[in-house]
Amino acid sequence: MAMEKRLIKKGELAGIVGRIAGDMSLLAPVKEEDNVLFELVKDGVTALPDFKNTKNAPKSFFFPRSETLMRYIRKQKGMEFAGLEKDEQGERVLFGVRPCDARSFAILDLLFDQDKYKDPYYIEKRNKTTVVAMSCAKVPYATCFCTSVGGSPTSTDGSDVLLTDLGDEFLAEFLTDKGKGLLKYFGDKTADAQADKKKEEIAASAEKEIKTSIPAKEIKGFLDANFEHPFWDTIHKKCLACGTCTFMCPTCHCFDIQDEVKAADGKRVRNWDSCMFPLFTKETSGHNPRPSQKERWRQRFMHKFRYYVDMFGPIACVGCGRCVMSCPVNIDIRKIVADISKL
Ligand code: SF4
Ligand code: SF4
Repeated sequence: MAMEKRLIKKGELAGIVGRIAGDMSLLAPVKEEDNVLFELVKDGVTALPDFKNTKNAPKSFFFPRSETLMRYIRKQKGMEFAGLEKDEQGERVLFGVRPCDARSFAILDLLFDQDKYKDPYYIEKRNKTTVVAMSCAKVPYATCFCTSVGGSPTSTDGSDVLLTDLGDEFLAEFLTDKGKGLLKYFGDKTADAQADKKKEEIAASAEKEIKTSIPAKEIKGFLDANFEHPFWDTIHKKCLACGTCTFMCPTCHCFDIQDEVKAADGKRVRNWDSCMFPLFTKETSGHNPRPSQKERWRQRFMHKFRYYVDMFGPIACVGCGRCVMSCPVNIDIRKIVADISKL
C-alpha cells in the first residue's frame, strides 16, 4: 500500500503541535535559559518543533537518567514486595526529533527489546510514544557526521512520521501504523510527485552539506585484530573521566542499579552510569579490570565500533556530534576514527 503523505503550510505547524498537546503529552524542543532542550511541554511553554538539534539527546524519555524499578517494605524478617513502578504518562508524541536521534531509538531497541532479553520499562515507554522526526534540510552543525555511520539527514530509522521542510510547506510522511494515528492532525492535502522530487533534491543537497566523512565502518578489521596496540596508549591522555561524552550520547546506555532505603520504605533505582568512570567496573574485591583511562576509552570506542556491530549490526554512534561539542578537553571521536584508519 502506498505511504500516506500530506503537505502542510509552514504556518500550520504550531497549530498541529498545539492540537496534539491538547490530546496527549507532547515532548519537544523548548528554550531553557541559554539552551534548547527536549522536554515535556507544559502549559504556557512554546514548543520549537523545527529547532536544529537539542543540547540533550531524547533517549531519556525511554531510558531516564534515574528510574525507580520497584518498591518494597522492610519487615522485621525480610522484605515485602510493594509493586513494580508503572509509567504514569499515557500516550505521548516526541515531536521534532532529528533523524540521527531517531536512529538512536532503533539502535537502542536492538538492546532493550531483544528476543532473549526484554526491558519492560523501556518497551512500555517506547510503545506509548509516537516519534515525529524532522529531516535536516539544512545540516545543523559542522560536527555532524551521520552519513559516515549509516544515517542521513532524511533517515527514517526509528521514526513513525518524517517531516521535511520544502520551503513554504512541510512534507509529512507517515511511515508506520503508529504514525498514521496522527493523520487527523495534518489536514487533507495529499502530497504529489512534485513534493517527492523536491524532497529528493533537499536530501541530496543536505548530504552534500555534511563536510565530515570518516571511515567508521572500514576500521572494524583493525579493531578486531588490535585489542592490544600502542595506539590505545595515546587517545585517553587528556581525558578527565568526567563522563560528559557518555551522558550526552544518544546511544550510550550503561546503567547501575541501587537500592535506596529510608526507614521501612525501599526502592530499587536504575541510574545512568558511565564506562568512563573508574568505579564502573570496580569489583567488590577491589580489583578493577579496567584500571586506567586507557582501558575505559578503548572500551567506549570498541563498544561503539566493534562489539555493537558484532552483536546487533549497526555502529552504536549516530554521528550527532554531541560528544565532540561537549568534551571539555576537545577529544574528538571523528579524529580517533580517522587516525585509526591510517594505521
Ligand atoms: S559517540 Fe558522539 S557523535 Fe556518536 S552518537 Fe554518541 S555523542 Fe553522538
Ligand atoms: S567528555 Fe572528554 S574528558 Fe569527559 S570523559 Fe568524555 S572524553 Fe573524557
